Amino acid sequence: MSVITRRALVASAAAAATAAMLPMSRHVLAQAPAPGPFVQPPLPFLEPQLAPTISTRTVTLHFGRHHAAYFAALNTLTKDTKYVAMTLEQVVVESDKETDRRIFNNAAQAWNHNLYWATFKPGGAKAPGGKLLGMINASFGSFDQMKIKLKGDTTAIFGSGWGWLAQEGDKLVVATTPGGANLLPRNTMTTLLGIDVWEHAYYLDYENRRPDHIQAVLDNIINWDVVASRLKS
Ligand code: MN
Repeated sequence: MSVITRRALVASAAAAATAAMLPMSRHVLAQAPAPGPFVQPPLPFLEPQLAPTISTRTVTLHFGRHHAAYFAALNTLTKDTKYVAMTLEQVVVESDKETDRRIFNNAAQAWNHNLYWATFKPGGAKAPGGKLLGMINASFGSFDQMKIKLKGDTTAIFGSGWGWLAQEGDKLVVATTPGGANLLPRNTMTTLLGIDVWEHAYYLDYENRRPDHIQAVLDNIINWDVVASRLKS
């Protein structure tokens, strides 16, 4: 049985069990995710598959509560607005022009985590090769130097934020953004890889050791074929 099929079965069994146990009440309805056009993609792996780099508990909470909540809020905030006709990427870029940051924050975080989880798809290259490695070497000197730069800059983010490896023309760069922001509004950059350093991403597993978490992610769970597939030719 495929992973997707098994996940779908588990999810539908859980939903059926919940429906059987709970009478339909205002409370239950209030807890249901808001219906809307923006749909959280399923994880491309089972929750335990990132351990010990990221524990099952962290993946479950991060995906099931935090990431899911960004989608729920986005669907609520965009109801009956121009945004429902846009792609998630378009919502990020367009809502960044608004003074009210709520739609931007939730759309950007929904997009950021879509990119993040997809990067950990099992299989694929354990280190960059081919064109991606050539660009890393040309831009940073070596793969190790790139990891040192990405880890250093991402560790140094004050509070919550994201560290990024991005393509700018024929060069690769490291960039960071605070909070839920990302590089989409700067349309000169193509995002290749994102490291989440909100505390919900690592605190249960690494407490305050943010650099250790970043190092473990870079060394152990990235599918570098997925990263390479994001290069713009
Ligand atoms: Mn997160």
